[in-house]
Amino acid sequence: MSGVMLQSCGSCGRVWQFRRGGCPQCGSTAVREVTASGGGTVWSVTQVMRAPLPELDLPGGYAIALVTLDEGPRVMCRAETGLVIGQRVTVGLGADGLPLARTS
Ligand SMILES: [Zn+2]
Repeated sequence: MSGVMLQSCGSCGRVWQFRRGGCPQCGSTAVREVTASGGGTVWSVTQVMRAPLPELDLPGGYAIALVTLDEGPRVMCRAETGLVIGQRVTVGLGADGLPLARTS
C-alpha cells in the first residue's frame, strides 16, 4: 500500500484522487476511501531548476511527474530524477508526507 488515498464510487466504480462528497461521474454519494496500490506509469515528467521557494532550492533541482495510477487517477507528485515517460514507477509518501514517484 502506498499511503496515497483515493476515493471510489460504490455505484459506478469510478476512482478519483481529490476528496469530494459525491461521484463526479454518476453523482452517487456512496463514496468510500481506498488506498492506492502505488503502481503507476509516468505520463509526464519535468525537472525544476528554479525553485519557487527557498526550501525547495536543492542542488540540481528536483523532478515533478504526472503519474497515471493503476487505479486510474493521474496524480502530480515529486519524483526521482531521470524518470522517463512511459516508465513504471511506485508512488508512495515521501519524508514530507507528499506523494513521491520512484523506480523501486
Ligand atoms: Zn459513480
